[in-house]
Amino acid sequence: MTSTKPVTLLVLGAGGDLTKRLLLPGLGSLLKVETGRQVTVVGADRAELTDKAFGALVRGAFEGVGVNKRTTDRIVRTARYQQADLLDPAALADLIAGCGDDELVIYFALPPSIAVKVCAELQKIGLPKGTRLGLEKPFGTDEASARAFNKQLQRLVPEEQIFRVDHFLGVATVLNLIGLRFANRILQPIWNAEHIERVEIAYDEDLALEGRAGYYDGAGALRDMLQSHLLQVLAIFAMEPIASLEPQELADLKAQVLRATHLWEDDPTQAKRARYTAGKLGRRKIPSYVDEQGVDPKRKTETLAQMTVEVRNNRWTGVPIVLRSGKALGQAHKQIVAYLRPVAHLPSGFIGEATGDVLIIDVKPGAVSFRLTMNAEGDPLDLEHKLLTAELADGQMTAYGEVLRHMLDGNQLLSVRADAAELCWHIVAPVLAAFEANKVPLEEYPAGSTGPDGWLPKDSVLLDSAYGNSAAV
Ligand code: NDP
Repeated sequence: MTSTKPVTLLVLGAGGDLTKRLLLPGLGSLLKVETGRQVTVVGADRAELTDKAFGALVRGAFEGVGVNKRTTDRIVRTARYQQADLLDPAALADLIAGCGDDELVIYFALPPSIAVKVCAELQKIGLPKGTRLGLEKPFGTDEASARAFNKQLQRLVPEEQIFRVDHFLGVATVLNLIGLRFANRILQPIWNAEHIERVEIAYDEDLALEGRAGYYDGAGALRDMLQSHLLQVLAIFAMEPIASLEPQELADLKAQVLRATHLWEDDPTQAKRARYTAGKLGRRKIPSYVDEQGVDPKRKTETLAQMTVEVRNNRWTGVPIVLRSGKALGQAHKQIVAYLRPVAHLPSGFIGEATGDVLIIDVKPGAVSFRLTMNAEGDPLDLEHKLLTAELADGQMTAYGEVLRHMLDGNQLLSVRADAAELCWHIVAPVLAAFEANKVPLEEYPAGSTGPDGWLPKDSVLLDSAYGNSAAV
């Protein structure tokens, strides 16, 4: 249902990469579906842009996702841009005052350190009642800074008006996970340690750095992917049955999982890190990560990280859950893979073993596959793996479109609550410390390979090209 309430979306950092590549196309994808939605877009940045140039930016983004001309014209007609140093209190106050009387949503598409400072200034200036704030990842740089930022934000507006963005939560398949688990009777009974032996949650990319050293070299795979997105996916995968799709219900259940999540054997040195060396992705030659423009090799930034965690509760204790993400891998695997335990008894007379049943959930493009052991073709006493696959339709809008839709409506279903943001840092803190102290060796893998040998069991779906996928989230 299209919301009819007019909203002003103030984008701070409107001249940056996120705005251009993800935010405006996301908004376009939303307006393509909900053509009547009333949104006034106001951009602010220190970049020298005119209203006209900003309007052209909006138009380009909308055209790129196929928004009809009438809707595009309507949004571009009212879009405005204000050049401002957002750390200048007078300029910031002027900007807020000029936003009009509609409900205000402020999206911080700024470097995180600047966003913290702008929030401090906003506290002095004050915000119109009901203003909602959209904060990007990374949210803080560790547990203490996340906690401090939470306190600061909650002095500015109530928690109900704070939207910590994790765009993975806007990916249809993550919400599909809830339907998959709770809208049928098949999976519920086996969703526990009694039936599931181990789990892998992976975001292996077949893209390299792609010119993003400025951000990535200061972050690395653990902070960029595991600390945020993959722990969010884990929380939804492992949570207890949900009673309703109310934001508070989902946030409570996710927090419960994250509070129970610990490093496997409490050992941070089981985590792994590596960095790619020269190789090939398809036909493209890829230089060594350390030779990519803008990379400082002394930082020892990992381009592939893996850690095993355990959710210590009645449902999951004893099940290793591997979180893994990396760049420049030969095969993209953006998947959740649950490996089932072998059957209690295989009738004698069959040839071979009844092992290797797995449930594979492709995050994008969305699909669910069961690889089951069944009678082989030819000799029915022989056993083999068969794949049953259901493809899931793509969402109507991009992940950012979905996130923006909820934010513009004031619905926190896809937002990360304050406690979850802190818990995610808490979980990875010992691993970050172990990396920092060089207690975990920095390994290498050629671009285009499946990563260093020995990180995953040989039967891992993530090593098998038959199960790879390639679309970006
Ligand atoms: P960029 O550096 O590309 O954009 C930030 C923009 O803010 C720049 O135009 C910058 O101007 C401007 N800016 C910085 N300081 C000020 C200031 N004091 N006053 C006015 N404008 C200012 O960053 P991104 O767009 O890549 O990232 C923004 C946020 O989104 C970050 O938190 C990032 O982690 C997050 N994010 C980004 C993703 C991406 O793909 N880009 C993906 C997911 C999250 P200038 O260039 O002059 O410094």
